[in-house]
Amino acid sequence: MITLGIGLFILFVLLFGPTPRFQNGRIGKLYRFLTSTFFIKLRNLLVRIFGSGMNSIFNMLGKVFHGERNPLVLIIYLWIIYYETTEWYQGAYKPFEELGVMTNSNLRTVSVMLIVLAVVIICGIFVSPGEITNSNIRHYLKLYPHDKIIYFEEDCPTCNLRKPARSKHCRMLNKCIPKYDHYCGWLMNTIGERNHRIFVLFLVSNLTICLYVCYTMYCIFKFKVDKSKMFKQVFRDSKGNILEVGFFFMISFLRKVVPRIFKQFFVLLFIVFLLLTFLFNNLFLICKNMTTNEATKFKQLKEYLLLQQKSQNTLSIVAHQPENTELTHINNGLNNGNNNNKQNETETDLENAKLNSKINPYAKHHDQISQLDPKNLKNTYNKGIFLNIKQFLFPPSIHPNREFQDI
Ligand SMILES: [Zn+2]
Repeated sequence: MITLGIGLFILFVLLFGPTPRFQNGRIGKLYRFLTSTFFIKLRNLLVRIFGSGMNSIFNMLGKVFHGERNPLVLIIYLWIIYYETTEWYQGAYKPFEELGVMTNSNLRTVSVMLIVLAVVIICGIFVSPGEITNSNIRHYLKLYPHDKIIYFEEDCPTCNLRKPARSKHCRMLNKCIPKYDHYCGWLMNTIGERNHRIFVLFLVSNLTICLYVCYTMYCIFKFKVDKSKMFKQVFRDSKGNILEVGFFFMISFLRKVVPRIFKQFFVLLFIVFLLLTFLFNNLFLICKNMTTNEATKFKQLKEYLLLQQKSQNTLSIVAHQPENTELTHINNGLNNGNNNNKQNETETDLENAKLNSKINPYAKHHDQISQLDPKNLKNTYNKGIFLNIKQFLFPPSIHPNREFQDI
């Protein structure tokens, strides 16, 4: 049970660590440790022990796991599906079919759901996210003008094309993808304008099948509890005290009577929680006509602007401090501790601003964005919930509208 808990926690960290919600907190730190720091330290240690030959092995592994489109995550995902299905069939369906709790219709429903899921997975892998080409670029430039907030007029150095707003050069597919959302390892494909619908369908199909399997397990639990007639009996512990038959009593009873199904039920509940989080996050962004990539961009921009604002305030405080007169020395003497703290804070702010200026992608657009209010950044692509959902369901390059003609 502890191993399972640790496994699920690590899965949670790997999935949610890089998201804007967690990337700056402890989960983000742990994610960076697990995916980067740990391997750098391990590499240094192994190079010290076995020599520089280890470097090339690590470079190769780095390419496979991090830099290239590969089926590793997809294989893990398919294995999870296979494992969970056989576990359900052998552990839940088979033994309880004989007792009449499970029927043929349960098996049929799961089979149909699996077939639908397989079709969605195949579409998810093979349907293209779209591509910016010479023939469609003017349509995309017209459809998504540069907002001068998170998108500026730039060329893609790899494709040698002007980058329309909302697009991004995907290093996995080596193409500029319109309305780039993210790269999905589960489907081994990039999610963009043309296949975002399939990605949402993929989440929904997974969620439906998990919920249905949970429901069949709930039926088994109910059968076991009813059969035991536990609510009509009196239970005593080893000292003879009467035990209260409540929720926790029922949980420990089920854990003892049907351990295999009980364990699988909680694993599935955890997967349902992950899927629901992904799905709601996606739907929330779709309603705002914002991609996952853009949500990260807005966050980076806000961070940049807030730090710049803070450093400007700090600089103006420093500029307005009195000169080194005798009075200042006396004041410093009186408020020494206080001032030291303030000075440290000031230095940290300036250091943070400097650091942020170097690593934040918006630093190079400083002149164009410095007047923006970080608390009121406008998403200019938001056309209202109805049109946003329409654009998601009917991508303009597949269903051309007035703005996106002759494609
Ligand atoms: Zn490109």
